[in-house]
Amino acid sequence: MGIEPTTSSTGKVLLPPGPDQDAILNQVNDELTNKGFLVSQLDDLVNWARTGSLWPMTFGLACCAVEMMHAYVSRYDLDRFGVVPRPSPRQSDVIIVAGTLTNKMAPAFRKVYDQMAEPRYVISMGSCANGGGYYHYSYSVVRGCDRVVPVDVYVPGCPPTAEALVYGILQLQRKIRRTGTLWR
Ligand code: SF4
Repeated sequence: MGIEPTTSSTGKVLLPPGPDQDAILNQVNDELTNKGFLVSQLDDLVNWARTGSLWPMTFGLACCAVEMMHAYVSRYDLDRFGVVPRPSPRQSDVIIVAGTLTNKMAPAFRKVYDQMAEPRYVISMGSCANGGGYYHYSYSVVRGCDRVVPVDVYVPGCPPTAEALVYGILQLQRKIRRTGTLWR
């Protein structure tokens, strides 16, 4: 998963996780140890906190949810990115739409999304959520969850692997750092 450096809205180069980022973090750590304080910009601090604590709403709709659960547990361990699933939309920053969205479920899905506080993000996981997938021509299936809510990141596949979801989350972190706004 090669992640390239990105540029923030304020023109700064943002390094992906790796030795270069570790060197900067060590430097920051030393400064904090020596002086006891750090000087930073508020938007940098907010983005750091925001990207390091993306709490997804638990929202598994079909088979893709099994891969999502797989990403949460020990082999892929999304906790290390600060991604901890929550059982309430009021505590969530992101909703991962994992599975087939039916017409019957769509109003409930929209209601859950509306209950999430801003800024909120959406990851569409798998062919069904992206565009209806196998059930695209079914009378009962929504042809893409982006017909109901705005989507930030699409993860392709049927089902996408857990690695693909982890990559999608890293892409969302990247997008948040790049756009870097306090309000959406
Ligand atoms: S994309 Fe495939 S694995 Fe995911 S919910 Fe649809 S049919 Fe199931």
